[in-house]
Amino acid sequence: MSDAPDPANSGTRNTPAPMYGLPETVQFCTRCVISNQRPSSTVEWRSRADDAKSTIGLDEEGVCSACRYADMKANEIDWEARELELRDLCSQIRSRAGNYDCIVPGSGGKDSAFTSHVLKSRYGLHPLTVTWAPHVYTEIGFQNFQNWINAGFDNVLVTPNGLIHRMLTRLAFENLLHPFQPFIVGQRQVGPKLSAMHGIPTVFYGENQAEYGNALAENFSPIMDRRFYAAEPDPDTLVLGGVTGQDLMAEHGLNRGDLQPYLPADPAELDRVGTEVHYLGYYLRWDPQECYYYATEHTGFRANDERTEGSYSKYSSIDDRIDPLHYYTTYIKFGIGRATYDAAQEIRNGKIDREEGVALVRRYDHEVPERYLDQMLNYMGISRDRFWEVIDSGRSPHLWQRDGDVWKLRHAVWMD
Ligand SMILES: [Zn+2]
Repeated sequence: MSDAPDPANSGTRNTPAPMYGLPETVQFCTRCVISNQRPSSTVEWRSRADDAKSTIGLDEEGVCSACRYADMKANEIDWEARELELRDLCSQIRSRAGNYDCIVPGSGGKDSAFTSHVLKSRYGLHPLTVTWAPHVYTEIGFQNFQNWINAGFDNVLVTPNGLIHRMLTRLAFENLLHPFQPFIVGQRQVGPKLSAMHGIPTVFYGENQAEYGNALAENFSPIMDRRFYAAEPDPDTLVLGGVTGQDLMAEHGLNRGDLQPYLPADPAELDRVGTEVHYLGYYLRWDPQECYYYATEHTGFRANDERTEGSYSKYSSIDDRIDPLHYYTTYIKFGIGRATYDAAQEIRNGKIDREEGVALVRRYDHEVPERYLDQMLNYMGISRDRFWEVIDSGRSPHLWQRDGDVWKLRHAVWMD
């Protein structure tokens, strides 16, 4: 996946300029609305504030790798052959004894609802669904989670210790402007770890995040690279919220047991069980809107009544009250807010054209996510003043300029 540097090997590094090690010249994809500032997936449990980011590539025609991959999905990939690969895999792993034959991690949102239901109803598998709990459920998110279970799935809900998760979320916000990081760490690992714990070797996630902007080649493997979720489970190599495991214990009062849920899966345990993490999106042509329609029909999934703050969409990432804040931080750090992510994906899937996408980005990307903001600041134990202090100090100078009292992006997506 991404070529994020390994801080363990990088020695002392000067803080790169501009911030976050992003490309200094901002360039927008000529097809969608994403910019070259979009970071690729990274190994979150090693991420530090001054790591250089690996970002989405734009080719000589100014088209991003996610749009190029969308072309391949539409024109080049033999989806019938891919589906046969899936049928083969399912025949190999299907349990004849009535045991669980795969694990599907997810929240009961449209993607995990689609993945689990398709595997069960179309391919005859018996999935155990596992959920790494949101920070704070939204009402609609909790209803969708319950509806998913009621549509015919056993579920294990893993909820991390609230005292520790809140502290780590605050550290990740203050040190990395990335309050979502501890959640991502847990979410990536919960499937493989429960695979090892329960002796169920096959794990299915939905789409490969590489579809949205890692190196193209990463989309041509059905298997998730182990480095995203496995390593020697050693607190000394863990970095959470920008703080090393050692410092979390020495300075923040945590012990080794407290760090357990965030430690990567143990490779020896994974080898013993034969754990493999597959992307269903490698085998079946992935389309988020089609997943939404499918989940509505088959698992009782419901979209929100109102659009999500920072965007125009109503059915993506709606289960956690921290989601809008997470996307607001990506807007501050990379100039890429939630409407940009949503519009880029919908342009690639032919749901809207670029002109509509640009208008939606300009209308919604900058919106401050007020609806749950006080609640999430309270969750992290941060005042409003402190919130704005962290936000403003996280504005990379190559992206932002101050105009009187107002911060403005130097480069905004526009129609050519
Ligand atoms: Zn693009």
